[in-house]
Amino acid sequence: MNNEFREIDENLKEIRFNIAETVAKYRSQDEKIRIMAVTKTVPPEKVNHAVSLGIDLLGENRVQEYLSKKDEYDSSAEVHIIGHLQTNKVKYIIGSVAMIQSVDSIRLAEEINRLAAKNGKIMDVLCEVNIGGEESKSGVAPDSLNELLQGAARLENIRVCGLMTIPPPTDSDVYLARMQELFMSVKESRPDGINMDILSMGMTHDYERAVKYGSNLVRIGTGLFGARNYK
Ligand SMILES: *Cc1c(COP(=O)(O)O)cnc(C)c1O
Repeated sequence: MNNEFREIDENLKEIRFNIAETVAKYRSQDEKIRIMAVTKTVPPEKVNHAVSLGIDLLGENRVQEYLSKKDEYDSSAEVHIIGHLQTNKVKYIIGSVAMIQSVDSIRLAEEINRLAAKNGKIMDVLCEVNIGGEESKSGVAPDSLNELLQGAARLENIRVCGLMTIPPPTDSDVYLARMQELFMSVKESRPDGINMDILSMGMTHDYERAVKYGSNLVRIGTGLFGARNYK
């Protein structure tokens, strides 16, 4: 086995260990934390190696890159869209992805709904929240989340399953805590037609702290595959 593959083995072992330790400390024992492998710039052979180690979830940022790689992926893993999605690109991915985590406008939700209906499917989605209010980031403002959720709940061919966020890259836990609070408050209000089961939060630099604050889906790129090679 080559060194790059061995590095992925070691990295995944460490990630699983760290998550198990964090769950033991802060969460209840039966809680499952799903690990997503974020594949941007990673060649399909390496992605498939991660799948051979038990990774069953892949995260895609860029539609174009995903389309160029998807036929080479081991089809046993689910694919979720996690990058900003333009409405005119939905048609390319609607048939092959299991979830769109980056829904941040009713216009996008409506287009997903329309094409899901056309494809005879119900598309699982998460609403992306811009918890830090950063201008550079997509996601709906926390104040506008309820309106988006209510609008999405009325669409018959999408199913809202939870929330996703990319908190500001600080070492502070403030935004992680704020996101957990928001997630719990929506969950406790039991909105009609919406499931609040998934909190997708945490990347390489903050996944352990994210798990501490209630995340049950962490999205890891460089921590698993190594530094990205942008061409
Ligand atoms: C790139 C990316 C990740 C993974 O980031 P790393 O720091 O490499 O772990 C997670 N989520 C989203 C939305 C991303 O774009």
